[in-house]
Amino acid sequence: MNKCTCGNFKDNKYLMCLDCYNSKVESENINNWLNSLKENWLNKNINNIVSLFCVDCDCYDTPFSKNGNLREDWSEIKEQTILDIQYKILMRNKYEFIVEFTIQYENEICSAINHIKLNEALKCFYLKQWYMCK
Ligand SMILES: [Zn+2]
Repeated sequence: MNKCTCGNFKDNKYLMCLDCYNSKVESENINNWLNSLKENWLNKNINNIVSLFCVDCDCYDTPFSKNGNLREDWSEIKEQTILDIQYKILMRNKYEFIVEFTIQYENEICSAINHIKLNEALKCFYLKQWYMCK
Protein backbone atom coordinates (compact mmCIF):
# COMPACT_ATOMS: atom_id res chain seq x y z
CA MET A 1 0.00 0.00 0.00
CA ASN A 2 1.13 3.53 -0.68
CA LYS A 3 -0.62 6.87 -0.70
CA CYS A 4 -2.79 8.57 -3.28
CA THR A 5 -2.17 12.30 -3.93
CA CYS A 6 -5.29 13.00 -1.80
CA GLY A 7 -3.71 11.28 1.23
CA ASN A 8 -5.83 8.11 1.16
CA PHE A 9 -4.12 4.76 1.04
CA LYS A 10 -4.21 3.00 -2.31
CA ASP A 11 -3.07 -0.28 -3.79
CA ASN A 12 0.30 -0.05 -5.57
CA LYS A 13 -1.20 -1.37 -8.79
CA TYR A 14 -3.59 1.61 -9.07
CA LEU A 15 -2.78 5.20 -10.00
CA MET A 16 -5.24 6.61 -7.45
CA CYS A 17 -7.58 5.63 -4.62
CA LEU A 18 -11.18 4.57 -5.25
CA ASP A 19 -12.57 7.95 -4.06
CA CYS A 20 -10.38 9.82 -6.56
CA TYR A 21 -11.19 7.35 -9.31
CA ASN A 22 -14.95 7.71 -8.74
CA SER A 23 -14.61 11.49 -8.67
CA LYS A 24 -12.67 11.41 -11.95
CA VAL A 25 -15.33 9.25 -13.62
CA GLU A 26 -18.13 11.53 -12.35
CA SER A 27 -16.29 14.60 -13.60
CA GLU A 28 -15.80 13.03 -17.04
CA ASN A 29 -19.46 11.98 -17.22
CA ILE A 30 -20.62 15.49 -16.32
CA ASN A 31 -18.31 17.05 -18.90
CA ASN A 32 -19.63 14.64 -21.54
CA TRP A 33 -23.20 15.60 -20.61
CA LEU A 34 -22.39 19.32 -20.75
CA ASN A 35 -20.50 19.00 -24.04
CA SER A 36 -23.42 17.10 -25.53
CA LEU A 37 -25.83 19.80 -24.31
CA LYS A 38 -23.60 22.56 -25.70
CA GLU A 39 -23.16 20.88 -29.09
CA ASN A 40 -26.87 20.21 -29.50
CA TRP A 41 -27.72 23.68 -28.22
CA LEU A 42 -25.48 25.23 -30.89
CA ASN A 43 -26.92 22.89 -33.54
CA LYS A 44 -30.49 23.53 -32.30
CA ASN A 45 -31.16 19.80 -32.08
CA ILE A 46 -34.11 19.85 -29.68
CA ASN A 47 -34.65 16.06 -29.80
CA ASN A 48 -31.09 15.38 -28.71
CA ILE A 49 -31.34 18.00 -25.97
CA VAL A 50 -34.58 16.50 -24.64
CA SER A 51 -32.93 13.05 -24.60
CA LEU A 52 -30.42 14.33 -22.02
CA PHE A 53 -33.28 14.85 -19.53
CA CYS A 54 -35.70 12.58 -17.70
CA VAL A 55 -39.22 12.86 -19.08
CA ASP A 56 -40.45 14.00 -15.67
CA CYS A 57 -37.52 16.36 -15.01
CA ASP A 58 -38.13 19.17 -12.52
CA CYS A 59 -36.99 22.01 -14.75
CA TYR A 60 -37.28 25.70 -13.90
CA ASP A 61 -36.40 28.34 -16.48
CA THR A 62 -36.25 30.86 -13.65
CA PRO A 63 -36.36 30.37 -9.86
CA PHE A 64 -39.95 31.64 -9.95
CA SER A 65 -41.33 29.78 -12.96
CA LYS A 66 -43.46 26.66 -12.73
CA ASN A 67 -41.99 23.29 -13.64
CA GLY A 68 -41.65 23.72 -17.41
CA ASN A 69 -42.23 21.68 -20.50
CA LEU A 70 -38.73 20.75 -21.68
CA ARG A 71 -39.46 20.68 -25.37
CA GLU A 72 -41.31 24.02 -25.27
CA ASP A 73 -38.69 25.64 -23.07
CA TRP A 74 -35.86 24.58 -25.38
CA SER A 75 -37.76 25.34 -28.60
CA GLU A 76 -37.11 29.04 -28.08
CA ILE A 77 -33.47 28.52 -29.14
CA LYS A 78 -34.69 27.89 -32.70
CA GLU A 79 -35.36 31.63 -33.03
CA GLN A 80 -32.01 32.65 -31.54
CA THR A 81 -28.72 33.37 -33.26
CA ILE A 82 -26.12 31.92 -30.93
CA LEU A 83 -22.49 32.43 -31.88
CA ASP A 84 -20.85 30.66 -28.98
CA ILE A 85 -21.51 28.92 -25.67
CA GLN A 86 -18.91 28.47 -22.95
CA TYR A 87 -19.45 26.66 -19.70
CA LYS A 88 -17.63 26.53 -16.40
CA ILE A 89 -18.47 24.18 -13.53
CA LEU A 90 -18.51 26.33 -10.40
CA MET A 91 -18.98 23.49 -7.90
CA ARG A 92 -19.80 19.80 -7.95
CA ASN A 93 -20.80 17.09 -5.52
CA LYS A 94 -21.01 13.74 -7.30
CA TYR A 95 -23.72 14.22 -9.95
CA GLU A 96 -25.08 17.48 -8.56
CA PHE A 97 -23.39 20.62 -9.86
CA ILE A 98 -23.64 24.34 -10.50
CA VAL A 99 -22.53 25.44 -13.94
CA GLU A 100 -22.22 28.88 -15.51
CA PHE A 101 -23.07 29.14 -19.20
CA THR A 102 -21.90 32.22 -21.07
CA ILE A 103 -23.97 32.57 -24.20
CA GLN A 104 -22.81 34.87 -26.97
CA TYR A 105 -25.75 35.98 -29.10
CA GLU A 106 -25.45 38.14 -32.18
CA ASN A 107 -26.02 41.37 -30.27
CA GLU A 108 -25.60 40.56 -26.61
CA ILE A 109 -23.92 38.32 -24.10
CA CYS A 110 -25.83 36.51 -21.34
CA SER A 111 -24.95 34.44 -18.32
CA ALA A 112 -26.98 31.49 -17.07
CA ILE A 113 -26.28 29.86 -13.74
CA ASN A 114 -27.78 26.37 -13.67
CA HIS A 115 -28.18 24.06 -10.67
CA ILE A 116 -28.32 20.59 -12.20
CA LYS A 117 -28.73 17.04 -10.87
CA LEU A 118 -28.09 13.95 -12.99
CA ASN A 119 -29.28 10.47 -12.06
CA GLU A 120 -27.16 7.29 -12.31
CA ALA A 121 -28.25 6.90 -15.95
CA LEU A 122 -26.77 10.38 -16.58
CA LYS A 123 -30.13 11.98 -17.33
CA CYS A 124 -30.99 15.32 -15.78
CA PHE A 125 -33.87 15.08 -13.29
CA TYR A 126 -33.55 18.58 -11.82
CA LEU A 127 -32.54 21.91 -13.31
CA LYS A 128 -33.08 25.43 -12.03
CA GLN A 129 -31.75 28.42 -13.93
CA TRP A 130 -30.81 32.01 -13.07
CA TYR A 131 -30.35 33.98 -16.28
CA MET A 132 -29.23 37.52 -16.98
CA CYS A 133 -27.88 39.56 -19.86
CA LYS A 134 -25.22 42.24 -19.85
ZN1 LIG B 1 -7.24 9.74 -3.70
